[in-house]
Amino acid sequence: MPQKIVAGNWKMNTSLEEATQLAQSLKDNQTGQEPAKLVVCPPFVWIRTIAEILQGSGISIGAQNCASTASGAFTGEISATMLKNAGVEYVILGHSERRAMFGDSNAVILEKCKQAIVSDLKVILCCGETLAERKAGELETVLTGQLTSVFKNIDQLSASNLVIAYEPVWAIGTGLTATPEQAESAHGFIRNLINSLLGETVGNSISLLYGGSCNASNASSLFSRNNIDGGLIGGASLKSDDFLKIGNAW
Ligand code: PEP
Repeated sequence: MPQKIVAGNWKMNTSLEEATQLAQSLKDNQTGQEPAKLVVCPPFVWIRTIAEILQGSGISIGAQNCASTASGAFTGEISATMLKNAGVEYVILGHSERRAMFGDSNAVILEKCKQAIVSDLKVILCCGETLAERKAGELETVLTGQLTSVFKNIDQLSASNLVIAYEPVWAIGTGLTATPEQAESAHGFIRNLINSLLGETVGNSISLLYGGSCNASNASSLFSRNNIDGGLIGGASLKSDDFLKIGNAW
């Protein structure tokens, strides 16, 4: 069975004070009995502080990106090894905002995945179609391109350390959640795809998260569906109560 995971992507939100309050509230109010592994992905500059607050809580730290190279003259970049040193366990790669605004092509994302893997980070690899692509009937082609470019180029052992987040671009931050049927159908396609690329033992062990306006009210209707092993949560991860409700939504 894939691990259930609920990961919060704080994006470029929170002041230092807000971030510390959010982390403290998560630590104080979690039970440790949540059915899902909880992960928070703060902005880079808060990572050390949040890691210290959450130490011993069982809540893991993720980052929202990493560099595609190991080290050197890359002003402003943060390497996967630096993240590992800072206490990070997971890194979100291929988020649609990075694909759309920061030039993260499938080729760049592959290089970032390789850096994360050699630095012993788990990758939350995002994929998903735009509304225009869905309307044009290109959903499966888009998902195949985004996922094949990574999974064809890493070995099976590494692949088992990846988590996939299916995030329809039209659902991210819009309040337009995919219906449970739409999400289940896309997740079923992804499961079959990775099973065919990696074999069923590895493919069936990979967690498939849904992301896109998932919140405390709709999480359980999504998480009860086949092949939906949790969520990647944006807006609703900024409220401790909501995030913990989502982590308990089974
Ligand atoms: C995201 O950005 O990964 C996301 C799912 O955002 P939201 O939950 O706000 O739609």
